[in-house]
Amino acid sequence: MGHLYALDFDGVLCDSCGESSLSAVKAAKIRWPQLFDQVDTAMEGWIVDQMHILRPVVETGYENLLLVRLLVEMRIPSIQKSSVAVGLTVERILENWSSIKPVIMEEWGEERGALVDLFGKVRDEWMEKDLSGWIGANRFYPGIADALRFSSSTLYIVTTKQGRFADALLRELAGITIPPDRIYGLGTGPKVEVLKQLQAKPEHAGLTLHFVEDRLATLKNVIKEPALDKWNLYLGRWGYNTGGERAEAQTIPRIQLLELSDFSKKLK
Ligand SMILES: [Mg+2]
Repeated sequence: MGHLYALDFDGVLCDSCGESSLSAVKAAKIRWPQLFDQVDTAMEGWIVDQMHILRPVVETGYENLLLVRLLVEMRIPSIQKSSVAVGLTVERILENWSSIKPVIMEEWGEERGALVDLFGKVRDEWMEKDLSGWIGANRFYPGIADALRFSSSTLYIVTTKQGRFADALLRELAGITIPPDRIYGLGTGPKVEVLKQLQAKPEHAGLTLHFVEDRLATLKNVIKEPALDKWNLYLGRWGYNTGGERAEAQTIPRIQLLELSDFSKKLK
């Protein structure tokens, strides 16, 4: 009997915060040129720094675009178009992102699909024009590449990133090719549904199931599904989660908190 690992990508295998923040600034300049005309290099640096703090709230890439614009509105009150930007702080965004997001989408007249497409397009263009620069804005966490390479477990990537980006980073940064049918990317459905599909595959019968995530909310969604009771759940401490989330995870018996070095050993 072996082990099956379903692995989140960003914040578990790969630290992509630098890349996603810079992609978001590029995309925001295209989507809202008048607002971002006023953003100089110094302010861009400030935005990227704040995005490292805010990264735990991002579930899907396009939200980076919303956060980048919100930061600009917080910094330059004269361009505020959103009622929630007034007096807003980074700490309040961390605590209330799920309620802020629908308000700004509505007030800015934005639509998820268009922002997802734009964010993907900007990344594609960056990759096309400057592949080494794009790849260099990402890094795999220490020990991950070898752990994946030498793992004797059945590995799947379950990510909200577009599959082709995960594939490119695995190949170029980690030197690993994972077959496309082992990468469930953006558009393959919610993670709980992917886990149900994985456990239902006849070839996985008898395998011990493990799901490694850095987002507490995603693990809590799994716990809500009785059909997924057999999955061992792990929150990676090294990823994009806050101290408050790690403390909460410690009170949930189903969830094991995992250190990076223990994760690498488990995978091998
Ligand atoms: Mg993640």
